[in-house]
Amino acid sequence: MSLPLVIITGASSGIGEACARLFSAQGHPLLLLARRVARLEALGLPNALCREVDVCDHETLLAAVNEAEARFGAADLIVNNAGQMLLGRIADQDPAEWSRMLDVNVKGLLSGIRSVLPGMLARRHGTIINISSVAGRKTFDFHAAYCGTKFAVHAISENLRQEVALQDVRVITIAPGAVETELLTHTSDQGIRDGYTAWKEEIGGVIAAADVAAAVAFAYQQPQNVCVREIVLAATRQQP
Ligand code: NDP
Repeated sequence: MSLPLVIITGASSGIGEACARLFSAQGHPLLLLARRVARLEALGLPNALCREVDVCDHETLLAAVNEAEARFGAADLIVNNAGQMLLGRIADQDPAEWSRMLDVNVKGLLSGIRSVLPGMLARRHGTIINISSVAGRKTFDFHAAYCGTKFAVHAISENLRQEVALQDVRVITIAPGAVETELLTHTSDQGIRDGYTAWKEEIGGVIAAADVAAAVAFAYQQPQNVCVREIVLAATRQQP
Protein backbone atom coordinates (compact mmCIF):
# COMPACT_ATOMS: atom_id res chain seq x y z
CA MET A 1 0.00 0.00 0.00
CA SER A 2 1.39 3.42 -0.89
CA LEU A 3 2.25 5.77 1.95
CA PRO A 4 0.43 9.10 2.37
CA LEU A 5 1.58 12.60 1.50
CA VAL A 6 3.82 14.43 3.99
CA ILE A 7 4.14 18.23 3.81
CA ILE A 8 7.22 19.95 5.21
CA THR A 9 7.62 23.72 5.45
CA GLY A 10 11.17 25.09 5.49
CA ALA A 11 12.59 21.98 3.84
CA SER A 12 15.49 23.76 2.11
CA SER A 13 17.93 23.36 5.02
CA GLY A 14 18.46 22.09 8.55
CA ILE A 15 15.70 20.21 10.33
CA GLY A 16 13.21 20.47 7.45
CA GLU A 17 15.74 19.05 4.99
CA ALA A 18 16.54 16.19 7.39
CA CYS A 19 12.81 15.43 7.74
CA ALA A 20 12.45 15.46 3.94
CA ARG A 21 15.30 12.98 3.51
CA LEU A 22 13.97 10.67 6.24
CA PHE A 23 10.33 10.57 5.12
CA SER A 24 11.47 10.15 1.51
CA ALA A 25 13.70 7.22 2.46
CA GLN A 26 10.66 5.66 4.14
CA GLY A 27 8.71 5.94 0.88
CA HIS A 28 6.40 8.92 1.45
CA PRO A 29 5.49 11.32 -1.35
CA LEU A 30 6.37 14.84 -0.27
CA LEU A 31 5.40 18.45 -0.69
CA LEU A 32 8.49 20.50 0.11
CA LEU A 33 8.09 24.23 0.69
CA ALA A 34 10.56 27.08 1.17
CA ARG A 35 11.56 30.33 -0.51
CA ARG A 36 14.79 28.82 -1.95
CA VAL A 37 13.16 26.35 -4.34
CA ALA A 38 16.50 25.51 -6.01
CA ARG A 39 17.66 24.07 -2.69
CA LEU A 40 14.52 21.92 -2.51
CA GLU A 41 15.04 20.65 -6.05
CA ALA A 42 18.74 19.98 -5.40
CA LEU A 43 17.74 17.38 -2.79
CA GLY A 44 16.74 15.22 -5.78
CA LEU A 45 14.11 13.27 -3.84
CA PRO A 46 11.63 11.04 -5.73
CA ASN A 47 7.91 11.85 -5.63
CA ALA A 48 8.67 15.26 -4.16
CA LEU A 49 6.78 18.31 -5.35
CA CYS A 50 8.97 21.35 -4.63
CA ARG A 51 7.31 24.74 -4.50
CA GLU A 52 8.60 28.23 -3.81
CA VAL A 53 6.35 29.32 -0.97
CA ASP A 54 6.73 31.97 1.69
CA VAL A 55 4.67 30.60 4.58
CA CYS A 56 3.42 34.12 5.25
CA ASP A 57 1.54 34.00 1.93
CA HIS A 58 -1.50 31.85 2.71
CA GLU A 59 -2.91 31.76 -0.83
CA THR A 60 0.35 30.44 -2.36
CA LEU A 61 0.72 27.91 0.44
CA LEU A 62 -2.82 26.67 -0.06
CA ALA A 63 -2.37 26.43 -3.83
CA ALA A 64 0.74 24.24 -3.34
CA VAL A 65 -1.13 21.99 -0.88
CA ASN A 66 -4.04 21.62 -3.32
CA GLU A 67 -1.64 20.78 -6.16
CA ALA A 68 0.18 18.16 -4.06
CA GLU A 69 -3.07 16.57 -2.84
CA ALA A 70 -4.36 16.37 -6.43
CA ARG A 71 -1.18 14.52 -7.40
CA PHE A 72 -0.46 12.34 -4.35
CA GLY A 73 -3.74 12.12 -2.41
CA ALA A 74 -4.65 13.66 0.92
CA ALA A 75 -1.95 14.96 3.26
CA ASP A 76 -1.67 12.85 6.40
CA LEU A 77 1.12 14.88 8.04
CA ILE A 78 2.32 18.46 7.98
CA VAL A 79 5.57 19.39 9.70
CA ASN A 80 5.33 23.12 10.40
CA ASN A 81 9.05 23.72 10.60
CA ALA A 82 9.79 26.98 8.75
CA GLY A 83 11.20 29.45 11.23
CA GLN A 84 13.66 32.24 11.87
CA MET A 85 15.72 33.11 14.95
CA LEU A 86 16.91 36.71 15.03
CA LEU A 87 18.47 37.18 18.45
CA GLY A 88 18.83 40.62 20.01
CA ARG A 89 18.11 42.94 22.90
CA ILE A 90 14.65 44.49 22.85
CA ALA A 91 16.19 47.90 23.62
CA ASP A 92 18.14 48.06 20.38
CA GLN A 93 16.86 45.32 18.05
CA ASP A 94 15.28 46.49 14.79
CA PRO A 95 11.50 46.02 15.22
CA ALA A 96 11.42 44.65 11.66
CA GLU A 97 13.18 41.56 13.05
CA TRP A 98 10.38 41.01 15.60
CA SER A 99 7.84 41.32 12.79
CA ARG A 100 9.65 38.77 10.63
CA MET A 101 9.79 36.22 13.44
CA LEU A 102 6.17 36.77 14.41
CA ASP A 103 5.07 36.50 10.78
CA VAL A 104 7.03 33.33 9.98
CA ASN A 105 7.15 31.48 13.30
CA VAL A 106 3.59 32.22 14.42
CA LYS A 107 1.38 33.34 11.53
CA GLY A 108 3.18 31.10 9.03
CA LEU A 109 2.67 28.13 11.34
CA LEU A 110 -1.04 28.97 11.72
CA SER A 111 -1.27 29.19 7.96
CA GLY A 112 0.33 25.75 7.57
CA ILE A 113 -2.18 24.32 10.04
CA ARG A 114 -5.10 25.95 8.28
CA SER A 115 -4.01 24.63 4.88
CA VAL A 116 -4.56 20.99 5.90
CA LEU A 117 -6.86 21.02 8.93
CA PRO A 118 -10.29 21.13 7.24
CA GLY A 119 -9.40 18.03 5.18
CA MET A 120 -8.01 16.17 8.19
CA LEU A 121 -11.12 16.95 10.25
CA ALA A 122 -13.38 15.77 7.43
CA ARG A 123 -11.41 12.51 7.16
CA ARG A 124 -11.05 12.23 10.95
CA HIS A 125 -7.40 11.37 10.40
CA GLY A 126 -4.16 13.29 10.27
CA THR A 127 -1.20 14.64 12.21
CA ILE A 128 0.09 18.17 12.68
CA ILE A 129 3.64 18.44 13.99
CA ASN A 130 4.78 21.90 15.06
CA ILE A 131 8.48 22.57 15.53
CA SER A 132 8.84 24.75 18.61
CA SER A 133 12.00 24.91 20.76
CA VAL A 134 13.31 24.64 24.29
CA ALA A 135 13.00 28.42 23.85
CA GLY A 136 9.25 27.77 23.81
CA ARG A 137 9.44 26.50 27.39
CA LYS A 138 11.98 28.76 29.04
CA THR A 139 13.85 31.98 28.44
CA PHE A 140 17.44 32.67 27.35
CA ASP A 141 19.58 35.82 27.01
CA PHE A 142 18.86 37.77 23.78
CA HIS A 143 15.90 35.51 22.96
CA ALA A 144 12.98 37.69 24.17
CA ALA A 145 11.21 38.14 20.83
CA TYR A 146 12.16 34.65 19.57
CA CYS A 147 11.00 33.07 22.85
CA GLY A 148 7.75 35.01 22.45
CA THR A 149 7.16 33.30 19.12
CA LYS A 150 8.09 29.84 20.36
CA PHE A 151 6.01 30.14 23.58
CA ALA A 152 3.21 30.99 21.14
CA VAL A 153 3.87 27.78 19.19
CA HIS A 154 3.54 25.75 22.38
CA ALA A 155 0.31 27.56 23.33
CA ILE A 156 -1.23 27.24 19.87
CA SER A 157 -0.33 23.55 19.69
CA GLU A 158 -1.77 22.64 23.08
CA ASN A 159 -4.93 24.64 22.47
CA LEU A 160 -5.40 23.14 19.01
CA ARG A 161 -4.73 19.64 20.32
CA GLN A 162 -7.69 19.96 22.66
CA GLU A 163 -9.83 21.56 19.93
CA VAL A 164 -9.44 18.66 17.47
CA ALA A 165 -8.84 15.67 19.78
CA LEU A 166 -12.37 14.31 19.50
CA GLN A 167 -12.11 14.46 15.71
CA ASP A 168 -9.07 12.14 15.84
CA VAL A 169 -6.48 14.60 14.54
CA ARG A 170 -3.18 14.56 16.44
CA VAL A 171 -1.25 17.72 17.30
CA ILE A 172 2.34 17.24 18.38
CA THR A 173 5.01 19.69 19.53
CA ILE A 174 8.69 18.93 18.98
CA ALA A 175 10.94 21.18 21.07
CA PRO A 176 14.64 20.87 20.29
CA GLY A 177 17.48 22.52 22.15
CA ALA A 178 20.36 23.85 20.05
CA VAL A 179 20.74 22.07 16.69
CA GLU A 180 23.60 22.48 14.20
CA THR A 181 21.89 24.28 11.27
CA GLU A 182 21.91 27.61 9.43
CA LEU A 183 19.47 29.13 11.93
CA LEU A 184 21.97 31.22 13.91
CA THR A 185 23.57 32.72 10.78
CA HIS A 186 20.57 35.01 10.25
CA THR A 187 21.05 36.84 13.58
CA SER A 188 22.41 40.25 12.61
CA ASP A 189 24.38 40.95 15.84
CA GLN A 190 27.88 39.52 15.34
CA GLY A 191 28.68 39.56 19.07
CA ILE A 192 25.60 37.48 19.89
CA ARG A 193 26.43 35.03 17.09
CA ASP A 194 30.02 34.66 18.31
CA GLY A 195 28.91 34.09 21.92
CA TYR A 196 26.41 31.41 20.85
CA THR A 197 29.01 29.68 18.65
CA ALA A 198 31.56 29.71 21.49
CA TRP A 199 29.00 28.16 23.86
CA LYS A 200 28.23 25.37 21.38
CA GLU A 201 31.95 24.59 21.12
CA GLU A 202 32.39 24.72 24.93
CA ILE A 203 29.79 22.00 25.46
CA GLY A 204 31.29 19.81 22.74
CA GLY A 205 28.73 20.44 20.03
CA VAL A 206 24.95 20.26 19.78
CA ILE A 207 22.55 17.75 18.25
CA ALA A 208 22.17 17.21 14.49
CA ALA A 209 19.14 17.98 12.35
CA ALA A 210 18.82 14.23 11.72
CA ASP A 211 18.32 13.69 15.49
CA VAL A 212 15.29 15.98 15.40
CA ALA A 213 13.95 14.33 12.23
CA ALA A 214 14.14 10.95 13.99
CA ALA A 215 12.02 12.36 16.85
CA VAL A 216 9.49 13.72 14.36
CA ALA A 217 9.22 10.33 12.65
CA PHE A 218 8.96 8.51 15.99
CA ALA A 219 6.03 10.68 17.08
CA TYR A 220 4.28 10.34 13.71
CA GLN A 221 4.72 6.59 13.52
CA GLN A 222 2.92 5.79 16.77
CA PRO A 223 -0.52 4.19 16.31
CA GLN A 224 -3.10 6.83 15.35
CA ASN A 225 -4.82 6.52 18.76
CA VAL A 226 -1.56 7.46 20.51
CA CYS A 227 -0.61 11.13 20.56
CA VAL A 228 2.91 11.89 21.75
CA ARG A 229 1.99 15.40 22.81
CA GLU A 230 5.48 16.79 23.13
CA ILE A 231 9.10 15.76 22.72
CA VAL A 232 11.83 17.95 24.19
CA LEU A 233 15.31 16.90 23.06
CA ALA A 234 18.75 18.46 23.34
CA ALA A 235 22.40 17.55 23.60
CA THR A 236 23.13 15.69 26.81
CA ARG A 237 25.67 18.37 27.68
CA GLN A 238 23.22 21.26 27.09
CA GLN A 239 22.44 22.56 30.61
CA PRO A 240 19.83 25.29 30.16
P1 NDP B 1 17.44 26.65 9.09
O1 NDP B 1 17.74 28.11 9.02
O2 NDP B 1 18.47 25.70 8.60
O3 NDP B 1 16.07 26.33 8.35
C1 NDP B 1 14.98 27.19 8.39
C2 NDP B 1 14.04 26.82 7.25
O4 NDP B 1 12.91 27.69 7.31
C3 NDP B 1 14.69 26.99 5.89
O5 NDP B 1 14.33 25.92 5.07
C4 NDP B 1 14.07 28.28 5.36
O6 NDP B 1 13.95 28.20 3.95
C5 NDP B 1 12.69 28.21 6.00
N1 NDP B 1 12.04 29.51 6.06
C6 NDP B 1 12.43 30.62 6.72
N2 NDP B 1 11.57 31.62 6.48
C7 NDP B 1 10.61 31.13 5.65
C8 NDP B 1 9.47 31.68 5.04
N3 NDP B 1 9.10 32.96 5.22
N4 NDP B 1 8.71 30.88 4.25
C9 NDP B 1 9.07 29.60 4.03
N5 NDP B 1 10.15 29.03 4.58
C10 NDP B 1 10.91 29.79 5.38
O7 NDP B 1 17.11 26.39 10.62
P2 NDP B 1 16.58 25.11 11.44
O8 NDP B 1 16.51 23.91 10.61
O9 NDP B 1 17.38 25.09 12.67
O10 NDP B 1 15.13 25.62 11.83
C11 NDP B 1 13.96 24.89 11.61
C12 NDP B 1 13.00 25.11 12.78
O11 NDP B 1 13.59 24.56 13.95
C13 NDP B 1 12.69 26.57 13.09
O12 NDP B 1 11.32 26.71 13.38
C14 NDP B 1 13.53 26.84 14.33
O13 NDP B 1 12.99 27.88 15.10
C15 NDP B 1 13.46 25.48 15.01
N6 NDP B 1 14.50 25.23 16.00
C16 NDP B 1 15.83 25.26 15.65
C17 NDP B 1 16.80 25.07 16.61
C18 NDP B 1 18.26 25.19 16.31
O14 NDP B 1 19.07 25.32 17.25
N7 NDP B 1 18.68 25.13 15.07
C19 NDP B 1 16.45 24.78 18.01
C20 NDP B 1 15.03 24.72 18.24
C21 NDP B 1 14.11 24.93 17.28
P3 NDP B 1 14.13 29.43 2.93
O15 NDP B 1 15.13 30.37 3.51
O16 NDP B 1 14.58 28.75 1.68
O17 NDP B 1 12.76 30.02 2.79
